[in-house]
Parts: sequence; structure tokens; C-alpha cells
Amino acid sequence: MQFNDVVGQHELIAKIITLVNNHHLPHALMLAGAEGSGGLPLALATAQFILCTDKHATDSCGACSSCTKMGKMQHPDIHFSFPTVKNKDKIPTSNDFIREFREFVAENPYGNDTDWLKFLDTDKQGNITALECREIIQKLQLRSFESEYKILIMWYPEYLEKEGNILLKLIEEPTDKTLLFFVTSNVEGILQTIQSRTQLFPLKRLTDLEIKEALMKKGVNEIKAVHYARIAEGNFHQALSLISGEENDVVNTLRNWLNCMYANKGIELVEWVNGMAELNKEAQKKFLEYVIQLLEHLIRVRTIGAQNLVLLESEQKMIDVLIAKGMSDFSIAEINDLLNYSIYEIERNANTKILFHSLSLRIQKIVLRKNRTYTS
Ligand SMILES: [Zn+2]
Repeated sequence: MQFNDVVGQHELIAKIITLVNNHHLPHALMLAGAEGSGGLPLALATAQFILCTDKHATDSCGACSSCTKMGKMQHPDIHFSFPTVKNKDKIPTSNDFIREFREFVAENPYGNDTDWLKFLDTDKQGNITALECREIIQKLQLRSFESEYKILIMWYPEYLEKEGNILLKLIEEPTDKTLLFFVTSNVEGILQTIQSRTQLFPLKRLTDLEIKEALMKKGVNEIKAVHYARIAEGNFHQALSLISGEENDVVNTLRNWLNCMYANKGIELVEWVNGMAELNKEAQKKFLEYVIQLLEHLIRVRTIGAQNLVLLESEQKMIDVLIAKGMSDFSIAEINDLLNYSIYEIERNANTKILFHSLSLRIQKIVLRKNRTYTS
């Protein structure tokens, strides 16, 4: 991973390069950024830059023996630590899962902890164990093999519980030429004792433009790239998941809602409303805004066809079903008013259980109404 492969974060990268070149990089860094902002890619690129034997002014060479080993995450002076799960009855450490971790990161450098545990095909809780902490201390006491530095990259230090305190002495007084990079998306979730001993390097939220350009670099066409960049809201991981055709939750939520209304399933509808009422205000508003947007797409599909619209396969299917069920532009206008009013009410702290229930019944009345099918 080179700096050039990292999406955005230009200012932070420039700062890191200057610190490295002046031999001023702190020995314990906390790379902290929201999910999908690229903490792990940045840690990998920084480590590669430090160890590169033929580095350029602003990036590693990508070709020397050190860079080649880093590319495969097999450099003997780089150590990885990450959440693991119980392996039969053995207390696990990252060593037991390093092969899987390399494979996971190669495929998915912007992935998160949930993806990682899914990749391991487990429903067990992830953990960074006390045994792991002791092994880290042992590993870092050894002399480096090939480079001046040895580097530990710990991904998701928020998984360290009290056992993390085993590392305090190492963080405070590391052995010579030892660097510790902690990569987190939830800095508040990390042991205070560790937080206070590291230097915070915050990552920025990625801009839509940065995500758009990174998607286009991966061969995504411009219309799609703009669309997904907007939905992803600074999370490159989310943009990639959408591109890979993963259905997002919001489509499912809408499909369930429509099923309850069209099939007149009262009990399921109450359950749906309860689920919606548990979400926070922002998520509720976002869902309603999404429905408005999808209905706008429906009108466009009917009038100009689906070309030039970027729709997930599941969205296209839902639009086809709604058209087949006779959803008219007139009904859409009425539903739109109800949705907009509900957003306004949510902002005014309405009781959302009552609000979503009443909204559902009103929309249901519209979609089940006979003889009012105005065609466009
Ligand atoms: Zn190199």
C-alpha cells in the first residue's frame, strides 16, 4: 500500500511524510477516523514508506524488496494485532489468524471489524487477548530483522479490555526504533490509559469528490460514482459495498414496509413501526428522504426510462413492482406530501411511534384505493 493508494487524507499524509523525513514521527500514533475513512490503509502506507529502501520524496517506491514484502503484508519487521475469536479451547492470538487477515485486507483494506468477523465466518465476539499483549511485548523486544525499525500495527484497539494495560510500559518506554500504530474508528472506546499515551492523528471525513474520484479510478463510470459517493457520506467502505451490489438495509426496510401495507398485515406493520420508532431521529428522517427519492426515480423511470438513473438492482425491482401495482403520479404526489410533513414533525420531536403508525395507515389507504389510478 502506497500513499498514492490511500483515498484523500492529503494533509495528514503530508504531515506524516514531513515528520518521517525529519525523524520526528512520534513512536505511538493513534490514527483515528470514522469508519471508511481509511485508517488501516494509511497505517500500511506509512509503514511501507518508513521501511522502503528507495523512497521518493512523497511516497514509497512500491518496487524494492521491502515494499514487495509490505505489499503481501509479509515483512518480518511489521507485526499485526487485531481482534480474534476463540479457536476451539485455545486462547487465540493474531498469529493464529495472520493468513486470513492478510487475505481479508488484500481484498478489503477499507473493511471494518464486522466484515472481518464475517470473513472468519463466526458469530463469536472478537477480542484482543492478554496472551496477545504478552506476545506483542516479546516480538518487539527482538532486534529488527531487515530494517532500521520494527512496527506494530494494531487494528481496532477498542477491543482491548483491561488486559490492554499490559502494554502500557511498552507504549511509554518502547525498545529502540520501535513504532506503534493504533488504528481506530472509535477513539472514545479505547482504554483511557492507552489513549493518553499515544499521539492523536485524526483522519478527515472523505469528501464526495474524493470518493467519486477513487471509485472512477476503480473503473466505475462517472454517473454511478457521483451517486454512490453521495450516499456513502464520507465512508469509502460503504461506497465500495454499494458498488459491489450489496443491498443496503434501507431497501429492505422499505420493502418490508410496502409488503405490510399492500398485504394489509396489521401485526407485522406494528412490528415495523416499533422498529422504526427505535431508530434515532436522523435515521428516521434519512429513511423518509430515501423513500421520497425512490418515488421520484419511479416517475423518471416511467417517463424517460431507467437509463441514466443509477439504481441498485433491488431498487429497480421495487420500482417495477410499484408500477405494476398501479402506483400513479397522483398517488406519489399525495404520499410525498405525507412524507415531507412527517419529516417536519420528526424535527419537532413528534411521538414517532404514533407518527409512523398514522403515516403507514394513510399511505396504505392511498395505495389500496381503487378506481383512482391516474396514469401519467
Ligand atoms: Zn520501496
